[in-house]
Amino acid sequence: MVSYKEIGLVNTREMFKKAVAGGYAVPAFNFNNMEQLQAIIQAASETKSPVILQVSKGARKYANATLLRYMAEGAVEYAKELGWENPQICLHLDHGDAFETCKSCIDTGFSSVMIDGSHLPYEENVALTKQVVEYAHQFDVTVEAELGVLAGVEDEVSAAESHYTKPEEVIDFATRTGCDSLAISIGTSHGAYKFTPEQCTRDPKTGKLVPPPLAFDVLHEIEKKLPGFPIVLHGSSSVPQDEVDTINAHGGKLPDAVGIPEEQLREASKSAVCKINIDSDSRLAMTAAIRKHFDENPGHFDPRQYLTPARDNMKKMYVHKIVNVLGSDGKAE
Ligand SMILES: [Zn+2]
Repeated sequence: MVSYKEIGLVNTREMFKKAVAGGYAVPAFNFNNMEQLQAIIQAASETKSPVILQVSKGARKYANATLLRYMAEGAVEYAKELGWENPQICLHLDHGDAFETCKSCIDTGFSSVMIDGSHLPYEENVALTKQVVEYAHQFDVTVEAELGVLAGVEDEVSAAESHYTKPEEVIDFATRTGCDSLAISIGTSHGAYKFTPEQCTRDPKTGKLVPPPLAFDVLHEIEKKLPGFPIVLHGSSSVPQDEVDTINAHGGKLPDAVGIPEEQLREASKSAVCKINIDSDSRLAMTAAIRKHFDENPGHFDPRQYLTPARDNMKKMYVHKIVNVLGSDGKAE
């Protein structure tokens, strides 16, 4: 049993309280490898932004669960080395699928876990979430739950269609489970293809897809039912067109990739939404830089040559999100 407190991590409780009161959101960035983690920590340290390092089941399988945990421990020390005296870093399990997965994370130093029972019938979601909360709270680990179903694919989590969260269920759910935050479905979606072309309109000038707006009415209903309760948005990458264009210009093929417009995320950040999950944008930033580098430098084969611009491009994206979209800069001095 390793407590996250011993390795300098924090849970989400204070982070979210301050974010809801301050009208900003904390970034939750997924990581699978060293370069992503370096870019996240550099961005958070420079901007003094609280940050949530997210690890999915797929990431644990890809990189090894033990190694990822020690990388997060290293990240705290790295942040201090970069001059961030009091780093506010949370290590969070993304889309925990079972009690055992959550328990194994809690036992090995995670400060926060998500239990995703959103695909289950309501009562089963309540029971599973409650079981995780009861275990997690013994160790002061915070728990994110989910109500409503997001469309799209993220690692092994996938759903063909979304179902908005029902505002009439949130009070009962939050009260009975004791969860610390709630992921809701208001039209965000996992992956780089968040909407089909049929769901979008097309900008007549650029020919680019314009996605349908998020269901802010559902969000506001939920806020009214649970005033000040921390709300989480999954699947909130914006799929920047310049990165998609770079990928496509250098041999890639991502036709009609589309995400959530940043203006809408900016608006959501000012509400009770206090955690915004961003994964695809990091994948796109990395891939765009690598494709461009290989195209321009066909003789390069040292991973450091092409992973350096990849890391720089991810860091630039993380800083942009923190400063220009979520507004979390300077909130963890
Ligand atoms: Zn998600």
